[in-house]
Amino acid sequence: PPAKAAAVRNAFLSFFRDRHSHRLVPSASVRPRGDPSLLFVNAGMNQFKPIFLGTVDPRSEMAGFRRVANSQKCVRAGGRHNDLEDVGRDLSHHTFFEMLGNWAFGGEYFKEEACSMAWELLTQVYGIPEDRLWVSYFGGDPKTGLEPDLECRDIWLSLGVPARRVLSFGLEENFWEMGVTGPCGPCTEIHYDLAGGVEAPQLVELWNLVFMQHNREADGSLQPLPQRHVDTGMGLERLVAVLQGRHSTYDTDLFSPLLDAIHQGCGAPPYLGRVGAADKGRTDTAYRVVADHIRTLSVCIADGVSPGMSGAPLVLRQILRRAVRFSTEVLRAPPGFLGSLVPIVVETLGDTYPELQKNSTQIVNLVSEDEAAFLSSLERGRRIIDRTLKRLGPTDMFPAEVAWSLSMSGNLGLPLDLVELMLEEKGVQLDSAGLARLAQEEAQHQVQQAEPVREHGLQLDIHALGELQRRGVPPTDDSPKYNYSL
Ligand code: ATP
Ligand code: MG
Ligand code: MG
Ligand code: MG
Repeated sequence: PPAKAAAVRNAFLSFFRDRHSHRLVPSASVRPRGDPSLLFVNAGMNQFKPIFLGTVDPRSEMAGFRRVANSQKCVRAGGRHNDLEDVGRDLSHHTFFEMLGNWAFGGEYFKEEACSMAWELLTQVYGIPEDRLWVSYFGGDPKTGLEPDLECRDIWLSLGVPARRVLSFGLEENFWEMGVTGPCGPCTEIHYDLAGGVEAPQLVELWNLVFMQHNREADGSLQPLPQRHVDTGMGLERLVAVLQGRHSTYDTDLFSPLLDAIHQGCGAPPYLGRVGAADKGRTDTAYRVVADHIRTLSVCIADGVSPGMSGAPLVLRQILRRAVRFSTEVLRAPPGFLGSLVPIVVETLGDTYPELQKNSTQIVNLVSEDEAAFLSSLERGRRIIDRTLKRLGPTDMFPAEVAWSLSMSGNLGLPLDLVELMLEEKGVQLDSAGLARLAQEEAQHQVQQAEPVREHGLQLDIHALGELQRRGVPPTDDSPKYNYSL
């Protein structure tokens, strides 16, 4: 039988501890400690940033770290690495995922050892057939004067990877950066071919090995780091899918208990794993969004980030509302449903991350309260719409001011595209010219305040507002950066 996720995670950690003398360190909280450049912890390396920058307190335990490995809770929503819009649409991106990583600090080992350890683990310990693995390396960037990493290419060839499966890419793919600023460097990635055997490979990225050498400064320039380091990260969910012979991270024991519970609790048709146009009523998308989002909500709340009005809490609030909409409107979940999924997350992840067990009651309560609050905002919104409609003549458009005020966060905070959907259901047209005018005023106001917002990685709202301004209509499902699209 295929290895369970827990065994896959453990095999990674014991490989680096027992075979290659790494010290195991616990996952950091998803709430970044003292790093305003991040909304959430988005990679295993975040907690080691002081080591990379050479600013680590020499009296701290971290100062003695040479070889370490761990399994890190990561959230990629908002900020530089923002995968929120992909969740539900594809079968490999999550807002919360676990990143398995190993590190070599201060030149303890470098490219050759890093690549050969990764290859040994994947092919010998996990038994992945070599011919299903493709690798990529940094092909250089003439504009910035960064050299191609031919050393890395040669390492892969010497490990026996045939040249046709060793590809080079530029800055976008093979130069990893933590955020707008911070440690960065050329990287080499290992991809798995889901198709296997046929002409065109169907690749999913498994593991990224970064050779940390620079720091991206606030002025955009690259400065050399005091020392070189290895920093790697592999998505547990994708690895488990590969080892369980699946094309989708959702078809693994990390997600199937959640999908089963959604099926039972909502009475929706069973999950069939369809994507894109094949997923007609968007049932399968909704299953994925709800399963993904409840994990993120649980992990974040356990680490002390609750849904709120700005920064990371605001992103979490959007995640909660998205989960509520998909569960109630698509899957027809009964009120209070989201909270009932929390114990399943705790069951699946609680042994590895005990803070989930410790805070489980509080997580259930918070999710349930916020779900109820959002459902009641929706209800109040519907009543305000009905009342407004009574005042209108048969050919009148719905007043922009009312729609706008429903959307203000100090009021009900209903996203504009949702308001528009609600109006559509009533067969009324929204005064979109009026709305564009209001949006333009707001956008100007926002742009004046853009600097501090940008610092927190929240270009998102500006983007949506810019969109409003440009098109004069509220963003809809096809404007990819808008969070609430359903
Ligand atoms: P992708 O190109 O698939 O978006 P990435 O290049 O952004 O991945 P990295 O920053 O290199 O990812 O992170 C290291 C590893 O973490 C990836 O190789 C992948 O296995 C995993 N990973 C990254 N983003 C996600 C995500 N949103 N959900 C699940 N796993 C992820
Ligand atoms: Mg990505
Ligand atoms: Mg990538
Ligand atoms: Mg990558």
